[in-house]
Amino acid sequence: MKQKLTIAVASGKGGTGKTTVSASLACAAADAGYRTAYLDCDVEEPNGHLFLKPSINYRHMVGIPVPVVDQEKCINCGLCGEICQFSAIVCINKNVLTFDKMCHGCGGCSLVCPAGAITENSRNIGVVETGDCGNLRFCHGKLEVGEALSPPLVRAVRAILQEEDLSVIDASPGTSCPVIAAIKGVDYVLLVTEPTPFGINDLEIAVDMVNELHIPFAVVVNRSVPDHNLARDFCRDNKIKILAEIPDDRRVAEAYSRGKLPYSGVPGYRELFAGLLDTAMKEAGQ
Ligand code: SF4
Ligand code: SF4
Repeated sequence: MKQKLTIAVASGKGGTGKTTVSASLACAAADAGYRTAYLDCDVEEPNGHLFLKPSINYRHMVGIPVPVVDQEKCINCGLCGEICQFSAIVCINKNVLTFDKMCHGCGGCSLVCPAGAITENSRNIGVVETGDCGNLRFCHGKLEVGEALSPPLVRAVRAILQEEDLSVIDASPGTSCPVIAAIKGVDYVLLVTEPTPFGINDLEIAVDMVNELHIPFAVVVNRSVPDHNLARDFCRDNKIKILAEIPDDRRVAEAYSRGKLPYSGVPGYRELFAGLLDTAMKEAGQ
């Protein structure tokens, strides 16, 4: 391998089979002899562990710094409220109020406070767990129930396993901030879609997102049908490569319901994902 490589697997909407593709791709890479990490950055609903069944051997809490105001020191200048873009700190009637759940932990308010009245406390937003599944390194983040701020946790997952040759990121579905946090700066993106009108609509939005971020990408069509295939039409019209088509196969759904990946549970799929890995690595310049 010429250099370390990070491939993200994303999709414009949920339920396309993104986890199946990312986890299978990671297994194929590990079986091919690459030191590989699977990073589940879908922190609101991580489910890669259900298929990979890792043994977790390290766990740490992730927090963001939130302000604590010493009202005795405060001179009521109002600068903290002015700089906060999220209305997480406001000055009312010579009192400074803070709203931890709205705070993004940017540290701006404590920086501008001229009286040194603001210190920081850590607010827990979730946990990162790492472990092993055979020859594959595993990491996922789990967002606290009711927590809305997921990008810092996504970044914590991405930061933790840096030693491997190949990292496969399982991003959240959609195109919002957690997805941007998961795919920003990666070498290559695989967009998983299904050949339905809804699937194509969301694929179009996801294509705009990766183009905006200037990341090379290609499409994987899941539940592909031989004849009228909207995904094929869309990719042909927009000159987008399709690196693999995973057939609409009842055996895959049955394996999924038993908590098994098609890679290990259905004959023929090991070769399919080994081929996808090979092509994706070549496309990514390896
Ligand atoms: S740390 Fe940033 S987001 Fe949080 S209250 Fe201060 S300025 Fe607002
Ligand atoms: S910036 Fe500091 S001194 Fe000014 S209102 Fe906020 S806490 Fe008080």
